[in-house]
Amino acid sequence: MTNFYLPGNYSSHFTRRELCFSERAVRECINNLPDEAAEQNLKRLCLVLEVVREEWGPWKVTSGYRCAALNALTPGSSKMSAHIFGRAADGEPLRPRVKLVQVMDWLAEEVPAVRGMVTKAGVLGIDQAILEYPLGGWIHVGIARPSRKPRGQLLVKLRSDEPCVPYSTWRRKAPAGVTR
Ligand SMILES: [Zn+2]
Repeated sequence: MTNFYLPGNYSSHFTRRELCFSERAVRECINNLPDEAAEQNLKRLCLVLEVVREEWGPWKVTSGYRCAALNALTPGSSKMSAHIFGRAADGEPLRPRVKLVQVMDWLAEEVPAVRGMVTKAGVLGIDQAILEYPLGGWIHVGIARPSRKPRGQLLVKLRSDEPCVPYSTWRRKAPAGVTR
């Protein structure tokens, strides 16, 4: 039986529990526990999330680690999703006035600066940030494999049955008021 208590933190503000807990996993009796490699990735990921949190305040992780079995049951997720390896987390700002596009615009400014920054934790930087469903969705933040340089891609997903498009292209044309 899965124990979702999972004590401990990955970083100063992000707990192991919030990165690994999944209601779907509980309902389907899936043991959604990361292996050692995924644990290391989750630690690196949370250092990136700390940078976002520092700028935008408390950040709610809605879906972090997903083992292969859980990922397979997650609608719209790819078979090679970075979530499977502990390299991605979907989340949203908790401050009601902070909009997802504000965070994305800020990332567009900051990502080139933080991409490829080498720290004790490895290469810290965003591989992909995806605004998933601008009207009330979330932001997917993904990091690269430990040996890879982050690509710093910023994308937007508008519909579940359509591929992502570059954030900058969409942002220039996005009508005012369509985003959370
Ligand atoms: Zn995601």
